[in-house]
Amino acid sequence: MESMTSTPATAPADGHADLDSLLSALVTGALDRRAPTREAALALLATGDDALLDVVAAAGRVRRAFFGRRVKLNYLVNMKSGLCPEDCFYCSQRLGSQAEILKYSWIAPDEATELAAKAVGAGAKRVCLVASGRGPCDRDITRVAETVAAIKNDTPDVEVCVCLGLLTAGQADRLAAAGADAYSHNLNTAQEKYADICTTHTFADRVDTLRTATAAGLSPCSGAIFGMGESDEDVVSVAFALRELDPDSVPVNFLIPFEGTPLGGRWELTPARCLRILALFRFVFPDVEVRLAGGREIHLRTLQPLALHLANAVFLGDYLTSEGAPGGDDLAMIADAGFTIEGREEATLPTARAEQVALRRRGAGTELPANT
Ligand code: SF4
Repeated sequence: MESMTSTPATAPADGHADLDSLLSALVTGALDRRAPTREAALALLATGDDALLDVVAAAGRVRRAFFGRRVKLNYLVNMKSGLCPEDCFYCSQRLGSQAEILKYSWIAPDEATELAAKAVGAGAKRVCLVASGRGPCDRDITRVAETVAAIKNDTPDVEVCVCLGLLTAGQADRLAAAGADAYSHNLNTAQEKYADICTTHTFADRVDTLRTATAAGLSPCSGAIFGMGESDEDVVSVAFALRELDPDSVPVNFLIPFEGTPLGGRWELTPARCLRILALFRFVFPDVEVRLAGGREIHLRTLQPLALHLANAVFLGDYLTSEGAPGGDDLAMIADAGFTIEGREEATLPTARAEQVALRRRGAGTELPANT
């Protein structure tokens, strides 16, 4: 367990004389959309608890520059729960899990649509349709495509993200054609550590799926889970690996240690450690949605409002197999901390990032030469 005692205010920061110069370099780089160096990222994670508010304030400047004080609400619908053949050690739905979670096969599209409508009524801007399993069969895709279409029919401007595990190109195309906006598939941890948390699929499988979804035109969502025994080096490695995939949203989860899973009883995070990880993710993903995800209540505890200065999105309501805070309490926390709920009519990603997408006006279908 990480020590709860205070650690020195400054850590050895290669190339940075002190905390101020480290944070100043990180802020300047992030405002310019540059990734931090590995050394700076490690130095940030090594800062002590005395420096915590300085770290939050610095990363908070980047958050405000790109996202103001808006908080985007996301809502999870677990369409199929438990009974997964995969063995992800952190997961309560894994093969052999003894966790006493709800287990059920696919809920009907009508039920999912009803849940989505309620979430939208409560302020959710994105609905995430999730199902346990290694990956969908084509009949599963049909079922989810029907659900996506029904939700879009009810509320055309709600964002629908789908999370079904490993995906083929044809399946990704079908989800995009049905109106899905995004596909979510986390990398979870550093490549070097992946075999320690799962033996039934690989880090490369996950990277492939995210690339497949992106190629189909689905907005890529991919993040990680912390509190699984990873080192600072591992935290930085997974952050940098995610940045290489250029996701539009990055959920940051903190392990929910379910009894009955291999990582049950593992409580190694402190609120301060969680905040430093979130600050690092803000510096690595300055203009990308960084989402406060599973485990925020139990690991950040009373420091959750500080995390809103780093993340610009949260999950509202319950998680896949565990309960979250009452929605009203979260909305009150967001308001009390001085933040506002992002409306469906507002763009999440900063305009400048959207402007980086240059529509092709040359090559095939034009009079202009191709970019070769
Ligand atoms: S994370 Fe997904 S693939 Fe892994 S055990 Fe859980 S439901 Fe199955």
